[in-house]
Order: sequence, then structure tokens, then C-alpha cells
Amino acid sequence: MLFNDIASLCDKTNVKYEIGAKTAPLTSIGVGKRAELVLFPRTMQQLCQILDAVTYNHHKHYILGNGTNCYFCDNYDGVVIVTRELDEITVNGTEMRAFCGASLKKCSELALFHSLAGLEFAHGIPGAIGGALYMNASAYGSSIGDFVESSLVYEKSSGRIIEISRKEHLFGEKSTVFSKTNNYVVLETRLKLLRGDFEKIKNQINDYDTRRHLYQPLDKMSAGSAFKKPKDTYASLLIDKAGLKGFSLGDAAVSTKHAGFIINKNSASASEINGLILHIKREIFEKFGVSLEEEIIYIE
Ligand SMILES: Cc1cc2nc3c(=O)[nH]c(=O)nc-3n(C[C@H](O)[C@H](O)[C@H](O)COP(=O)(O)OP(=O)(O)OC[C@H]3O[C@@H](n4cnc5c(N)ncnc54)[C@H](O)[C@@H]3O)c2cc1C
Repeated sequence: MLFNDIASLCDKTNVKYEIGAKTAPLTSIGVGKRAELVLFPRTMQQLCQILDAVTYNHHKHYILGNGTNCYFCDNYDGVVIVTRELDEITVNGTEMRAFCGASLKKCSELALFHSLAGLEFAHGIPGAIGGALYMNASAYGSSIGDFVESSLVYEKSSGRIIEISRKEHLFGEKSTVFSKTNNYVVLETRLKLLRGDFEKIKNQINDYDTRRHLYQPLDKMSAGSAFKKPKDTYASLLIDKAGLKGFSLGDAAVSTKHAGFIINKNSASASEINGLILHIKREIFEKFGVSLEEEIIYIE
């Protein structure tokens, strides 16, 4: 086994792990075969010890939240660190602190419970806080970056845990300091929410959820929108106009319900997803002169 040192660290520190684990079940699109080692830390201390070990030993590794924005190559020859068991959330006044593995849905529901407004948009996004911060998850005109005050992060280059301010997150359209540098792992974030009215917040959540059910293929395996929004138009609009709705390559297909979603019809492989993405990009460029950029992340 390639990562004996990490497995023995896990044995010593009581971290759950699996050697040669299947990766498809770790993602919402269900694509991937095996990874050398998959770890499930349950405490911040465990996560930081693992991060120290993989960075110090230059081991190939990947941080995974809920796996709703990515898909794996066939056999990933590295360590996958799954954060979803680090899911603590606390609320104090209008401040919410959430660990990286806390789901957006839970954060949104806890905010509702405390009549705090702001996270209504996040209720239907199936990711966790770390993944949301990585990409500045957004919907219906709001983004997670609108509410972040500061975050505790692990800085890979120094092995230190530091607090970064809201400004240092460099929040942009589907981009942040995390996606730009790949030098940080989000451990915990502090959100500032707004006092609101319970019924209004609840109605807004229900309205957004209804819209998602109407327009998104939520009954199919996907990783959400496959492409970032191009300037002045929508990827889904162009894909639809190009006649690609329903187009498939093996088990990878463009959703017939929402052309921006690539779905796995049953057992799509990474190469089928890659081939479909390439085909869509080529067609859209030839027909409209627009270069689409992937939002969905390929882990290789
Ligand atoms: C049906 C559906 C609907 C969706 N709707 C939306 C939507 O409306 N808006 C939207 O923005 N997205 C949407 N998504 C995409 C996805 O849910 C979001 O991008 C989400 O924020 C990803 O979170 P995750 O935990 O699943 O991240 P993952 O897929 O696990 O990871 C995504 C990236 O974040 C990195 N990452 C994860 N955790 C950390 C961490 N702790 N520190 C540093 N980096 C980390 C990973 O390394 C990876 O590069 C949708 C997806 C689906 C399947």
C-alpha cells in the first residue's frame, strides 16, 4: 500500500479509513472507481494531524466535502480526506459558526430555527460549508460570500492554522482564494446573518425549493451545473439552442430537464463525462463563439 504511514497514523489516532475504497458513492454524480485511501476524520485535531502528515510527506491528497461538485477519475492514486463528519454548527445571536463538513441545508435550517435570514438560497444546494466556500456557492442572487465574516483555515505551505478575514477570501463569481491558490483547507467559518421573520424565511426557502424541483433534474445523479455562467448569457441556454438537450455519450448525458446539468444515467465513466464536456464545449464555441468553462471539478 502506497500510504502505510497515513494508515498507521489513522490507527493511532482512531480515524476511520478505508483502503482501496470506492469513490463513486462519495460523489452525487456517482462517477469514479477506487482511491488508494479514503479517510473520515471526526475531529478538527484529527483533520489537522492528517493534513500535517500528507503535506509534510508530499502525499497526493484531495479534500472532499459532500462531493456534489466533482467526479473522480477511474483510479485515484492518492488520499481522499472526507470532511462530512465534521459537521458542528453553533449559533450565537446573529452569528453562526460552522465546521467545514456542515451541510448548507442544515445551516439554512438552523438559521430558520433562530429566525435568521440570509441562508434561504443555500437550503437546496447539496454541498457542505468547505465546498461552498471553495467555489463561493450561489443561487437566486445570493452567495455564501455575502455572509462570511472570517474563517479558520489550514495553510498548506506553512502547516499553520490561521484566521482569514472576509476580504482575504477574495470572493468572486464562483471563485475564491481557495480555488485560486489551492493553498488552504477551510476548517471552520463564521457567518453573520440578519434578524428576520420565521414565516417569511420559511416561505422563501419553500419557494426556492419548489423552483429547484421544477427546473432541475433532482431525481438524477449529477454535480449541479456543469459550466460556469459565461458573460451576458447562460450556459444552459446555449446548450439548449445548440440542440444538445438529451445528447449522450454512453451513460453521460445532457439533462432533458435542464441543459446546464450533465447527468449520469446509470454507470457513466469519467472518460464519458470528459468526452461529453469536450463535445459540448466544441459545439458551443463553433456555434456561438463562446468558450465555456467547467464548474464541475475533475479529480485526477
Ligand atoms: C442538484 C445540485 C444542485 C446544485 N445547485 C447549486 C447551486 O444552486 N449553486 C451552487 O453554487 N452550486 C450548486 N451545486 C454544486 C455544489 O453543490 C456546490 O458547489 C457545493 O458548494 C459544493 O460543496 P461540496 O461540499 O459538495 O463540495 P465538493 O464537491 O466535495 O468539493 C468541491 C471543491 O471544494 C473543495 N473543498 C471541499 N471542502 C473543502 C475544504 N474544507 N477546504 C477547502 N476546499 C474544500 C474540494 O477540494 C473541491 O475542489 C449543485 C449541485 C447539485 C448536485
